[in-house]
Amino acid sequence: MYTLGNTPIGDFGGRKPRFSRGGPSRGTAPRGARNDSRSDAPRSARPFGRASQGTRGGGFRGGNGGGRGGRKFSGDRIDISKFINRAETVVEEVYSPNHTFNDFKIDQKLKDNIVKKGYVIPSPIQDQTIPYVIDGRDIIGLANTGTGKTAAFLIPTINKIMHDKKHKAIIITPTRELALQIQKECMELTKTLGIFNVTCVGGAPIRAQMKNLEYPHHIVIGTPGRLKDLLERKKLNISDVKTVILDEADRMLDMGFIDDVRYFLREIPTERQMLLFSATMAKEIEALVHQFLKNPVKISVKTRDTSKNVDQDVVRVTDKSKKLEVLCDMLKNQSFSKVLIFVETKRSVDRLHDELFDRGFKVGSIHGDREHRQRQAALEAFSTGKSQVLIATDVAARGLDISGVTHVINYEIPSSYDTYVHRIGRTGRGNKKGIALTFV
Ligand code: AMP
Repeated sequence: MYTLGNTPIGDFGGRKPRFSRGGPSRGTAPRGARNDSRSDAPRSARPFGRASQGTRGGGFRGGNGGGRGGRKFSGDRIDISKFINRAETVVEEVYSPNHTFNDFKIDQKLKDNIVKKGYVIPSPIQDQTIPYVIDGRDIIGLANTGTGKTAAFLIPTINKIMHDKKHKAIIITPTRELALQIQKECMELTKTLGIFNVTCVGGAPIRAQMKNLEYPHHIVIGTPGRLKDLLERKKLNISDVKTVILDEADRMLDMGFIDDVRYFLREIPTERQMLLFSATMAKEIEALVHQFLKNPVKISVKTRDTSKNVDQDVVRVTDKSKKLEVLCDMLKNQSFSKVLIFVETKRSVDRLHDELFDRGFKVGSIHGDREHRQRQAALEAFSTGKSQVLIATDVAARGLDISGVTHVINYEIPSSYDTYVHRIGRTGRGNKKGIALTFV
């Protein structure tokens, strides 16, 4: 804990920060803090081929926390001891898939593209899902970002299209960023196969999407609102859709898209295969499953609590006027090379962005009011290391897969503990340890 005012704070000014843990020490932290973090925390991904001591099943690479449904706290009522925890040592354990990519009954050219992508063995969700999708079964995949779920639904779907170019697939995903990540993976897996995709997301010009939909295409990737819009304008033909994929269904619910999704699914011919991926199964998602899926196979990739991989501490600043100064001192430290800062509102994002920018930091920001193009540019700069800091609201950061985040800083206390776990899941991905610091 850093205390400003009466006790000297960690002195970051260009020197190594002194992160001393204070408050309820690790050893003496109320038991509830650790136990709660397990029970409330959403599942998140971890390296596939790895398991950590005392954790469950198989995840894959790093991922964001995915869950919801925990008890909501008002931010200022979260016990701050919950923001203090030391990362556990991860004990590597190799996941043994039942299949190799070669075992899957898929076209050799597709296998070649998988090899070109550098995938050597299937992740657990791929290992367990792909054979069922090939057999035409509906799927409920309980898995979140970072588990390799995108390839789990793309590989068998692409294979179907290779054998029947009239087979059309539609992928519904909650955010523009996720849609673009799916599109990127789709482009790589369909290279030279003569399979085309169109991405239809909100915040980007609709006319260009309408034009793209006029050209032959096999896969449509989109966000629910925009897809509905295109459907109503009769620019999107779904009469020939044979595979429907709902990605991150629980996020769509969180973001209020569930009615658009339901509307959309009602319009699609019933002779279809449906794959639904979600980190958690809220009752609304269960209802969706009940209404739209036929005898689905449920595949659950249990993943470890991200929080176990993350060193967590608080930064206590008693004099609010010094808060920015403390943050800037931290950011001057070399180890803070890829820092994701969370604040609660769009206005706070803009304000902090300007303050850091004026002080010479390479900083970008994302929130719902920024144009798609601006968000993409900010993400790109952050992912590639051109900017050191990315400031975001929780909604804007949903589902992002950014590797190598060294620190997550909660400049403002999150509104719920679930949100906290979501946020800190952006660091400590894969088998790396991350650091999360919360200003209190
Ligand atoms: P996803 O959960 O689909 O967002 O995937 C997370 C990351 O894992 C992406 O960067 C993928 O390119 C990568 N990935 C997916 N499948 C594999 C695999 N079998 N081997 C290695 N990396 C993979």
